[in-house]
Amino acid sequence: MNFFNFHHHNPEIKFGIYNLKFGERIPNTLFSAGIHPDSIVENMDEYFLWLKEVSGNKNCVAIGECGLDGLIDVDEKLQEEVFEKQIFLANDIQKPIIIHCVKRFSQLIPFKKKSKVPMIVHGFNKRKTIGDDLLKHDFYLSFGKSVLHNVNLQDLVKDFPMEKLFLETDSADFDIQDLYQKVAELKNLSLEELTQKIKKNLQFLQIPA
Ligand SMILES: [Zn+2]
Repeated sequence: MNFFNFHHHNPEIKFGIYNLKFGERIPNTLFSAGIHPDSIVENMDEYFLWLKEVSGNKNCVAIGECGLDGLIDVDEKLQEEVFEKQIFLANDIQKPIIIHCVKRFSQLIPFKKKSKVPMIVHGFNKRKTIGDDLLKHDFYLSFGKSVLHNVNLQDLVKDFPMEKLFLETDSADFDIQDLYQKVAELKNLSLEELTQKIKKNLQFLQIPA
């Protein structure tokens, strides 16, 4: 059985969405490309030229990770501008957006209205109230390693609608099968059923898997 890894940084992983780095050679596998708030510099022209070019590739299935980060020393207005520009690009090319959000969930919500494509908040490991709010605004959530040990998050996943859920390793080094196993238990599904449901979600996002 293959376990789709919705967001990862390991070029060795073949079944999932690899987060391409700026200037990196385009892989044969599926990938996403975006400008992480961490990479924001004063003049973003070069980044946007790169992003425009690589995002047109058929293996590029999403824009991101991009978003808002309250823990880094990058001007918030500038972060919002760079994020918005990537939303408009995603709208143009009709590809979903993988979102990185740290401590800026209430600021994130209004950006949903600007987007004409699905938005997936990756690495979600916050409180249920935040998860519920994102769900209410039609975000997808992708869950990672925290589900293996965070009991509150396990409760959230248990009740979280299956059609809005993805699973990922991000940059953590562990076997994604363990995460699928855990989520299958929480949702009272077989591993096979879980992989099929995730496959359906991917199809809905027009991601070939
Ligand atoms: Zn990541």
